[in-house]
Amino acid sequence: MSEAKSKGYACPRCTVGRCTPQKTTFAEVYHGQLLSVPNVNAFVCDVCHFAEFEQDTLDALWEKLYGDGPLEDRQSITAQKRSSTYGK
Ligand SMILES: [Zn+2]
Repeated sequence: MSEAKSKGYACPRCTVGRCTPQKTTFAEVYHGQLLSVPNVNAFVCDVCHFAEFEQDTLDALWEKLYGDGPLEDRQSITAQKRSSTYGK
């Protein structure tokens, strides 16, 4: 996980492409509501366009969206996100 944080890494989904730091739109359905946030930093695969968001980015995003929301909700979604992206 620590390798290549700055310059990209092999895509965990297609294993062919390379995920590099880019700005993309974060989109997520959460409790039946579509969240869409443009210009979010992520690592995006140049082949399959898989986007992986860093935990710090998600945390900051959630802080912004749900700064006063229930903490356990934020934790559960970031935990889900992490296991689905890293749990290969
Ligand atoms: Zn890929």
